[in-house]
Amino acid sequence: MSGKILVVGAGVAGLTLAERMLARESAESLVLVERGDRVGGLARSFQVEGYTFDIGPHRFHTAYPEVESYVRKVLAGGYLTIPRASSVYLLGRYHDWPLTLSSVLRLPPRILLPSVLDLLRRNRITSRTSFADHIRARYGENLYQFFFRDYTRKFTGTDAEQLHLDWAEAGVNRAVIDRKVNADSLAAILRGLFSPKQATTQFIYPESGGIQAFADGLARRIRSMGGKIKLNCEARGVTTSGERVTGIELTNGERIPADRVYWSAPLTVLFPDRGLSFIHTVLYFLGLGKRRSNPYQWCYFGEKDVIFSRTTVPRNFFPGAVPEGRDSIAAEITCPVGSDVWKNPERFEQRVMEDLARVGAIDPDRVEFVTTRRIRETYPVYDLRYVEHLRSIQSPEGLVLLGRCGTFWYNNMDHSIAQALALSRGESFERDFWR
Ligand SMILES: Cc1cc2nc3c(=O)[nH]c(=O)nc-3n(C[C@H](O)[C@H](O)[C@H](O)COP(=O)(O)OP(=O)(O)OC[C@H]3O[C@@H](n4cnc5c(N)ncnc54)[C@H](O)[C@@H]3O)c2cc1C
Repeated sequence: MSGKILVVGAGVAGLTLAERMLARESAESLVLVERGDRVGGLARSFQVEGYTFDIGPHRFHTAYPEVESYVRKVLAGGYLTIPRASSVYLLGRYHDWPLTLSSVLRLPPRILLPSVLDLLRRNRITSRTSFADHIRARYGENLYQFFFRDYTRKFTGTDAEQLHLDWAEAGVNRAVIDRKVNADSLAAILRGLFSPKQATTQFIYPESGGIQAFADGLARRIRSMGGKIKLNCEARGVTTSGERVTGIELTNGERIPADRVYWSAPLTVLFPDRGLSFIHTVLYFLGLGKRRSNPYQWCYFGEKDVIFSRTTVPRNFFPGAVPEGRDSIAAEITCPVGSDVWKNPERFEQRVMEDLARVGAIDPDRVEFVTTRRIRETYPVYDLRYVEHLRSIQSPEGLVLLGRCGTFWYNNMDHSIAQALALSRGESFERDFWR
């Protein structure tokens, strides 16, 4: 815990760890290196023409009191508490997600009746190795075919049959963000529908500046305690002597010595040949000249012919996200690095706008601007062999992995913060906080 500490990656995990270690004076010196030109990692924001957008929508919610009080302290009272509102777009209509009774009753009988029959048959599937098996057992064949199969293919670029069942924990359960809102099976959804009291979730969100405000608050604290944050510094790997880490090497060839390295950058930088990979995301941000009545924070789109998998309405996170009387929306397309959309996102702007108009989310005549961002390593891919691949990795002594990309685990912000808080006390953490 003592000596020269290097933290790689200034996302919420690296920043939290650095801030806590400095506050506890558990480092002789601490340097944080970050590939990007700003801190925040996946939880960052940007401003354009008076609009604030998050790089991917971020609702902060946690079941860990320690994490919650830490976040409140860093935001120093400058936050809002907002009720969650998610949607799913099915057969030309918006439905609440998780489904409510009124949404279910609006589903056509050809979807509803076979789903109810599936509920009676659901225990028949006993062998579960893939995400598809898991979904069939939990939600039934009908909902698998109708929503999950295409959504998964679109979102991950991989067939549900080829994904490990851990993707359910990650891609379905964590997407709800609150364990209280149980949507992990058709039976659970139905129980929720008929429960006299619908579970509601509140989340915390900075009152200005977007989700970036949390990372900026941490960076200020780190600098005020003498920690150094080096931006535009990309680590190529660690340097070692025998079995021990001696520091890191940057892509410009510079070497920075350290007694201990905490690594929250993608694990694939350190171990490129272990069969592990990430999905990347292209985001389209649109400024709209007129208010729309999109009532959700985010909405999922499973249909194959809609190009994006999710849309977000920033105004429903905090009203100051848009200038007076205006509106905005963001659409996400997940993809591999070599795909056309990754290489030339601008070419797909027109298609994104057409699809947004088709699902009733924008009026194309009132679009004031479109700006795109390409974000690397947004989701770890859990193929059928990923556990075996992860187990083949042995870290040298003095190298500690943390964070979403560093541990190759689908963390929400609170999981990354909880990991960092545990490490800052010299404790280890359970890989999965949910089980
Ligand atoms: C679209 C989207 C929506 C999300 N929505 C939510 C939500 O609603 N609620 C929620 O709680 N969580 C949400 N998350 C998850 C949340 O963003 C992450 O859990 C959290 O930000 C991860 O923080 P981290 O520090 O572990 O990793 P990261 O944010 O990935 O930080 C890693 C850092 O390392 C840097 N880096 C990478 N390579 C190098 C290198 N070679 N050298 C130096 N630095 C490097 C990166 O630039 C980055 O800053 C969402 C994520 C995405 C992608």
